[in-house]
Amino acid sequence: MFRVLKKDSSSRARLGIIETPHGIVETPSFVVVGTHAKVRELSSQDLIRAKTQLIISNTYHMWQKLGDKGLRKYPGLHESMNWQHPLMTDSGGFQVFSLGFARELGGGKIVTSQQSLATSENLVRITNDGVYFKVGDREQFLDATKSIWIQEKLGADIILAFDEPTSPLHNYKYNKEALARTHRWEEESLKAKTTNQKMYGIVQGGLFEDLRNESAKFIGSLDFDGFAVGGSFGSSFGGKEKTFRELDWVVPYLPENKPRHLLGIGLIQDLFIGVSKGIDTFDCVVPTREGRHGNIYTLQGRLDMTKGLYKEDGSVLDPDCGCEVCATKKITKAYLHSLFKAKNFEAGYLASFHNIYFFNNLMKTIRNSIAEGNFKDLMKKHVLL
Ligand SMILES: [Zn+2]
Repeated sequence: MFRVLKKDSSSRARLGIIETPHGIVETPSFVVVGTHAKVRELSSQDLIRAKTQLIISNTYHMWQKLGDKGLRKYPGLHESMNWQHPLMTDSGGFQVFSLGFARELGGGKIVTSQQSLATSENLVRITNDGVYFKVGDREQFLDATKSIWIQEKLGADIILAFDEPTSPLHNYKYNKEALARTHRWEEESLKAKTTNQKMYGIVQGGLFEDLRNESAKFIGSLDFDGFAVGGSFGSSFGGKEKTFRELDWVVPYLPENKPRHLLGIGLIQDLFIGVSKGIDTFDCVVPTREGRHGNIYTLQGRLDMTKGLYKEDGSVLDPDCGCEVCATKKITKAYLHSLFKAKNFEAGYLASFHNIYFFNNLMKTIRNSIAEGNFKDLMKKHVLL
């Protein structure tokens, strides 16, 4: 399923190819998020023209949308998204976190200096067997067997084992207990699988070196087709710099000949650091979510197109970008600013298209640099270490 074509001599970066029944993915690669079986604003043709190789869709939200009955007769994500290219699904485990502790404590995946206290009701009840989600006045139960059943109905090429991500605010004792549950649920996920879809195991363990080591050794020894690294990541300098030292505690224990995915992480610096630490694929909602809100990504940084300073700026969005928005349509900052101000639908489309192309193209530049043996120099230009 995975071939390493070349290893970087200065880091753990590697060039590779993931093979799926719907085509290949050249790695390192960005994975576009299509939560409700679609990438908002963009058609599958748009995604191809923006150089997308792989899309990840969300198991929990598809289950909520279709129900068990709808899933039984569902034609599968490839058909319903009109996307005959590689696809993956998450396991629903992330919603254990996002609808649970992240709501209750107001925290994200990354430790910051300003964690607020309780904000919203925790909608999740975790037991040793699985997770109860509060939906209206009912509870719905999700466990490993159910997650895999749903993912088999969705039919993606790559599926994920069911896990429990923890918050950066959880202590050691909680992380240790959660990890024991996660490991058991992942073994159950492997047993539950009845199709030939490829399944990735997920390494957890929070911010604790011994738990990350233990998780990588255990999950790395199981018969998964690839591995994802999930959960919380620490930071330094009061939360401003992410160091991803957790990857140093994990990657050396994972098999070299299988692909590695970093869950839910993908800003420019993160991608370089992740690649240098041996990660092959990254999924992140940033290009589309921020595009809708007026932010475009360039090598000069993130630009907020809704700001007044762009009102009379007649320069092209990103003069260094080869995407059709910048290079063919030659959309200017002033024009995009006016579309956002008028709340015109096209604004989100143009910004999302450019952003997806930008991240896909950045990964292509990274792949070329590994092939040519100058990844380290490229990384130096983009990451202040
Ligand atoms: Zn562009």
